[in-house]
Amino acid sequence: MTQILMSLCEIDPAVVKQKTLAVRMRIAEVATSHGRDPNEIRLLAVTKGRSPDVVRAALRTGVMECGESYVSEALGKLQEIQEPRPIWHFIGPIQANKTAAIATHFDWVQSVDRLKIARRLSAQRPPHLRALDLCVQVNLDAETQKAGVAPEDAASLCAACTLLPRLRLRGLMAIPKPGKNMQERVESFLRLHALFRNVQQQLGSPDFAVLSMGMSADFEAAIQAGSTLIRLGTALFGPRPARVAAR
Ligand SMILES: *Cc1c(COP(=O)(O)O)cnc(C)c1O
Repeated sequence: MTQILMSLCEIDPAVVKQKTLAVRMRIAEVATSHGRDPNEIRLLAVTKGRSPDVVRAALRTGVMECGESYVSEALGKLQEIQEPRPIWHFIGPIQANKTAAIATHFDWVQSVDRLKIARRLSAQRPPHLRALDLCVQVNLDAETQKAGVAPEDAASLCAACTLLPRLRLRGLMAIPKPGKNMQERVESFLRLHALFRNVQQQLGSPDFAVLSMGMSADFEAAIQAGSTLIRLGTALFGPRPARVAAR
């Protein structure tokens, strides 16, 4: 019985395939219309709240990178999904007691917003793995509930992260305030882009090249404003259970 109910709730892999292809075409269209090369924009499938079968359906359409927001939900899924195994990004709020699990099981972490967490991730990254790729999360709109470093503190946090031996700083990530209209979102994204350019100049590191911004509702605005990595859940897999929001 449970089995039947679960399969009824599950999104059809053919639908995932269709949505993924449609999204890729849209990315190409928007990029081209803003004079950008579609190949500079990476597609991250956000798989929080989705079953391993749904993730596999996405991988079969050529998705190669997936993102999870909750360590306890992710660990079983990461174990279960092998061959092909995607590049796994951790994109959720980070509690200090979860850093060891993140450093051990993920390839990237995009939500680092304080030095204490970065230090723990570096110290806990297992020696047999390559350095952990990392983005610093910026709290663009000074939202008190949201993770992220204040824009004016981002450059110094980034500089400090580059000194940690087991981390490789790759760029910035942000989630703009919900409820803004598209023009306001484009403005938020442009602010992040400007900050990104600034930090890039200060660091002078070719590794620092990833601007992670844009979700299902606003990826077009993000591409227009210079995003190089968009994080899509709903656009690929349909609506999620309400509990699983972005923070
Ligand atoms: C959930 C989540 C997403 C994806 O949200 P959608 O609106 O479903 O595309 C992207 N980024 C982060 C950080 C998230 O938590």
